[in-house]
Amino acid sequence: KKITIAIDGFSSTGKSTLAKQLAKELEYVYVDTGAMYRAVAYFAMKNQFIDADSFNKKALIESLPKIQLEFKYNAVLGFAEMYLNGENVEKQIRTIEVSNFVSAVAAVSEVRSKLVEQQQEMGKNKGIVMDGRDIGTVVFPDAELKIFMTASAETRAQRRFDELQQKGDNVTYEEVLKNVVDRDHMDTHREDSPLVIADDAIEIDNSYLNKEEQFAAVLELIND
Ligand code: C5P
Repeated sequence: KKITIAIDGFSSTGKSTLAKQLAKELEYVYVDTGAMYRAVAYFAMKNQFIDADSFNKKALIESLPKIQLEFKYNAVLGFAEMYLNGENVEKQIRTIEVSNFVSAVAAVSEVRSKLVEQQQEMGKNKGIVMDGRDIGTVVFPDAELKIFMTASAETRAQRRFDELQQKGDNVTYEEVLKNVVDRDHMDTHREDSPLVIADDAIEIDNSYLNKEEQFAAVLELIND
């Protein structure tokens, strides 16, 4: 029987790695909700609604009806890529600039309600694994399996730093660590749907688990 799997947790805890492994193994649809918030942040940046000093929330809220988000499956990569108004923005949304603005954008209630609605629509049919911050609490409170992932900020920053370096992004470890810590703070302190662990979620601290061990542990939960 197909179920809904919600994976929440702090940034760079390996949520998407786990979610992709599960989707592949179980032949489920994987939805990366962070990509949706990132695409909206990228849109806000591109339209000069947000920069390091200011954030014109009103302009962003007014533009929301003009933001169309879509996932398109890329068979070569084996996962879906994010499209913003018809343009593939997969690369653009993973930069440190977007990471620096995304949590402020994700704190806007109007942004959240638009994206949550779209996520609930995408998950109407079971057989979905969705990762984010509020999947087990807000998007799918009835999900059959909820995982909450944590790891130390340093572990997470190191992973994200290695990833960005591989992509040739010119960024320092300190900058990445600051981004991870700042996003944790904003995500847990925003008024609308702050990041909290659902009562019925299973917590996994993967500071000392590698990808394979973590995957094996979760598969065991599903088979129970
Ligand atoms: O998962 P990822 O790190 O790509 O998410 C980027 C940001 O989007 C998070 O730091 C958080 O501010 C926001 N987000 C959210 N709710 C979700 C997914 C992401 O607020 N369900």
